[in-house]
Amino acid sequence: MNGSFAATPIQPLNLRLNDNTFHVKRDDLIPYSFGGNKVRKGILFFEAIRSGGHDAVVTYGSSSSNHCRVIANLAKEAGLPCRIIAPQEASRETMNSRLIRLLGAEVTTCPVNAVAETIEDAMAHLVKSGKNPYFIPGGGHGRLGTEAYVRAYEEIRANEEATGIRFDFIFLTSGTGSTQAGLVSGQLRHQDDRQVIGISNARRSPYGRQVVLDSVLEYLGREAGLKDSDRAVHFIDDYILEGYGAYNRAILDTIKEVFGSEGIPLDATYTGKGFWGMKEYIKANRITGKHVLFIHTGGTPLFFDTMEALQYE
Ligand SMILES: *Cc1c(COP(=O)(O)O)cnc(C)c1O
Repeated sequence: MNGSFAATPIQPLNLRLNDNTFHVKRDDLIPYSFGGNKVRKGILFFEAIRSGGHDAVVTYGSSSSNHCRVIANLAKEAGLPCRIIAPQEASRETMNSRLIRLLGAEVTTCPVNAVAETIEDAMAHLVKSGKNPYFIPGGGHGRLGTEAYVRAYEEIRANEEATGIRFDFIFLTSGTGSTQAGLVSGQLRHQDDRQVIGISNARRSPYGRQVVLDSVLEYLGREAGLKDSDRAVHFIDDYILEGYGAYNRAILDTIKEVFGSEGIPLDATYTGKGFWGMKEYIKANRITGKHVLFIHTGGTPLFFDTMEALQYE
């Protein structure tokens, strides 16, 4: 990604539910490597890699990880070797894992309980061979990941200024939690009266929620009031089903429906689950007459994996 990109579009949806209006912020259209929230984060990590004089990258993620695809691409572009540690429990071939191979990243799979030591080994091995490796946490988690979505929150505010449409709710799919933490940090900084709702795709509360809260407090530091921050983190674990990667009929129907009626691709692991969860949450909480924004966090290659489940039924 040579240079920065313009604010991603915020467009209205045809969706009608309880007299609310719906818009979507198309972070899936960020113009690099099929886009997505991992591009926003990855760009900031690569700035740190460059300014720190690092010459190798190590990261972690499953075979469906958008993060690993984007990092593999940024590493290739920068001419740096990229090592990816992947849990063998989630190493089924996907479009992302094929793209990661195409980009020449070296993938090491290990049992999920051996991940920490495998990462340490990979880092030590690179250091021994004279490299200065940088470790990027799974999902691009951490202060830089949070910063990426504080900036996206500013784009949302600028859009509101320009259009006069103010969003009462911002929904997104929450995974490692830094996307949500960034949006909440932006909200708290401006003391904006609205709700940012993270629909978890895997983690349960209280752990998943605590990670978001900790990231907000870490990011805002002394700016943060604990009470305000605590109140602003809405982490909903009612729609995770059996956890990461699990989906049901309703999610597939949602994906088919949204593609047909809006021309927007969602996927079963992240955005399809979040979009379905958003609709269920709005029904369950009888939210009516509001302006609702959904952040499309990306994952276009995963849409094509989902196609296989959609096609043959
Ligand atoms: C990683 C990812 C998420 C979750 O983002 P976090 O910052 O880890 O919570 C949501 N949607 C997509 C498409 C992703 O790849």
